[in-house]
Amino acid sequence: MIHENGGPEVMRLDEIAVPDPGPGELLVEVVAAGVNFIDTYLRSGLYPTPLPFTLGKEGAGRVLAAGDGVDGVAEGDLVAWSMGDGAYAEHAIVPARLVVRVPDGVDPQLAAAVMLQGMTAHFLSTSIVPLEEGDTALVHAGAGGVGLLLTRMLVRRGVRVLTTAGSSEKAELSRGAGAAEVLDYDDFATAARDLTDGRGVRIVFDGVGAATFDSGLDALQPRGMFVLFGAASGPVPPFDPQVLNAKGSLMLTRPSLGHFIADRAELEQRAGEVLGAVAEGWLDVRIGATYPLADAAVAHEDLEGRRTTGKLLLLP
Ligand code: NDP
Repeated sequence: MIHENGGPEVMRLDEIAVPDPGPGELLVEVVAAGVNFIDTYLRSGLYPTPLPFTLGKEGAGRVLAAGDGVDGVAEGDLVAWSMGDGAYAEHAIVPARLVVRVPDGVDPQLAAAVMLQGMTAHFLSTSIVPLEEGDTALVHAGAGGVGLLLTRMLVRRGVRVLTTAGSSEKAELSRGAGAAEVLDYDDFATAARDLTDGRGVRIVFDGVGAATFDSGLDALQPRGMFVLFGAASGPVPPFDPQVLNAKGSLMLTRPSLGHFIADRAELEQRAGEVLGAVAEGWLDVRIGATYPLADAAVAHEDLEGRRTTGKLLLLP
């Protein structure tokens, strides 16, 4: 739980009574909690939230009890979710409308690992603009949690993917996920242009933010789409829209997963496709590291310190 905003050290293990689920809620025994960048924004106060607060948007586990009015999920079911609160715990209260059943044959740890970053990669690759075979995309942080999954999903659609990565080990992982070329952060816009006969890429997926935003605009072809979906290096400062005109009638969007799974049918469809891809085996989910719950602060330090690849899980 956090009682104040700040660095990773503000997270501490608290002993509290196991809560009862209210109407529409489930009490879940957490098998694994996903660590996501948004947890660091909530912890630091970049995204303000009332305190005290138990972090953890994402998890998977077994339903121990269902509150009044819950339909379609019962005690004993294995469920997973990406938009709850309080998953960094042994037990979590999760609104039933946010969970999906973990399909038979999918390891609940993998389900916890793929809900948030997997559905993010899913909406980014399918629901921003219609991407066609032969389009070129640039994906920043290609060896990260979203980066690896997004690369695999784009490549499966026939898109040529260029990525950036912060080390040679990360570059190797990104290539393994299907990246055609891995570029240096220092000169990625020039390299992306060189690799597209001077034209630029059709779409940039940028979860790095402040450090890559300006150059990313230079990597785009006329009428290209800039998808700013995160701020791992810090938020992008205020921006003059006229720049989009000057650089070639570019488009800019700042999407969030919540708006792409707000509707129950859309959540079920996206989660079904992502978990189905895991079950079929073509969506390889890299679990870069697991940590005991008590080491949540170490997980945050590693994530913010660029020392991680793929997904981080807390195992209560
Ligand atoms: P990652 O596993 O991708 O970790 C972040 C990576 O960003 C690092 O490993 C590092 O890779 C790169 N990076 C570059 N500069 C920095 C920096 N200064 N500090 C830290 N990292 C840096 O994290 P996630 O997959 O969890 O998330 C990626 C991004 O996607 C985040 O910005 C997150 O907020 C966003 N996101 C947005 C969602 C949405 O709905 N909009 C949903 C899910 C995630 P390298 O060393 O290779 O550069």
